[in-house]
Amino acid sequence: MTSAAAISASALAFATPAQADELRDDLMADMPELMELYRDLHANPELSFEEHETAAKLAARMRDLGFEVTEGVGQTGVVSVMRNGEGPVVMLRADMDGLPVVEQTGLPYASTQTATPASGVTTGVMHACGHDTHMAGFIGAAQLLTERKDEWQGTLVMILQPAEELGLGALAMLEDGLYTRFPKPDYAIAFHDAAQFPAGMIGYSPGFALANVDSVDITVPGVGGHGAYPHTTRDPVVLASAIVMKLQTLVSRESSPLDPAVVTVGSFHAGAKHNIISDEAKLQLTVRSYSDASRKLLLDGIARIARGEAMAAGMPENKMPVVTVEDPYTPATYNDPDFTETVMAHFRTRFGEQRVMQVPSVMGGEDFGQFRRAAPDDVESLIFWVGGVPQEQIDKAAAGETTLPSLHSPYWAPDAEKVIAAGAEGLASAALTLMPAQGG
Ligand SMILES: [Zn+2]
Ligand SMILES: [Zn+2]
Repeated sequence: MTSAAAISASALAFATPAQADELRDDLMADMPELMELYRDLHANPELSFEEHETAAKLAARMRDLGFEVTEGVGQTGVVSVMRNGEGPVVMLRADMDGLPVVEQTGLPYASTQTATPASGVTTGVMHACGHDTHMAGFIGAAQLLTERKDEWQGTLVMILQPAEELGLGALAMLEDGLYTRFPKPDYAIAFHDAAQFPAGMIGYSPGFALANVDSVDITVPGVGGHGAYPHTTRDPVVLASAIVMKLQTLVSRESSPLDPAVVTVGSFHAGAKHNIISDEAKLQLTVRSYSDASRKLLLDGIARIARGEAMAAGMPENKMPVVTVEDPYTPATYNDPDFTETVMAHFRTRFGEQRVMQVPSVMGGEDFGQFRRAAPDDVESLIFWVGGVPQEQIDKAAAGETTLPSLHSPYWAPDAEKVIAAGAEGLASAALTLMPAQGG
């Protein structure tokens, strides 16, 4: 290394922590107000595509910060744009929806809201996935970035997405012109709280981070009759059971052992009484995969097995099982490896090596993957995890005294302050790194 390179490297090494401290000091000054926002959001969750008050509240804040704000993008989505000279387009995203869960955390600001979703059954509503922490962190990042417009150059697009829990909100925003009516991003970043590691830790998975999620319905016809005279029937319970068992071979015998896949039959309904052979059985499956190829292998296999077992059971051609794959599905979320490493190298400097760790991918789903999938040649994307579990809970779980609640649990109560602070600092500092001021 030449001495000139050594000097500029050491200048960088000094510059980064100094900026880090200033950014963090500003964030710490904002935290009481962000926590107030968080408690308000937590107490007032809204279901997917019903995020009207949440969207209006946050849109007003973004407007106050100087963004050009458009509401109603993909039903209740909000797009906020800030143009600040020539440079890359960076998109930051938070999701807004709560879940039909009756909150049991006992927190003083616990939700007592109720709603009646499409099912028609009135239920409690709760931010059981922590999207309230995402929104508060998002606003924190917006504040940090607007306070230091002289430190970045480019276009900042900050989006509040509806209906992540249905896997439909990202697509709704894209279909409503997210990439045509507004600047198309070069980089898209989001974070999600995590229920399995300590509050404030940052986790990331290069490549596939979350899975393709397919919901599959199989209607299995039979020929009904008296339970005492099975020979006069074609029993759909026996046929559907054979299908369920044979489906287990898709992952164990057909899919590569090195390619993660899941086929779960979550629901099996047939019949009404002990002594009646039903004329139909219904199965509901969730199917998880990463690549398009393994998704196809599983879905084709399900259709083939359903038909094959029906043929083996002697069902006529006009009584073959009907397999329906829900459309649209939630595609896998892919973190571009080089882009991920760029941001994580920055995070390791900013947060310290101890707080940033590579974690295994999961078979859960997230529709954030849609933003890259809609323009894979143009958009590089990254979703990172921010741990939310209070340290004393981790200690208790390690001692076998408790089990940790998962996301979507009525008991999920993250250490919101740590999640919001790390999320806001992560989003803002990543944006600053990706669009540095020219000549600054
Ligand atoms: Zn969720
Ligand atoms: Zn979520």
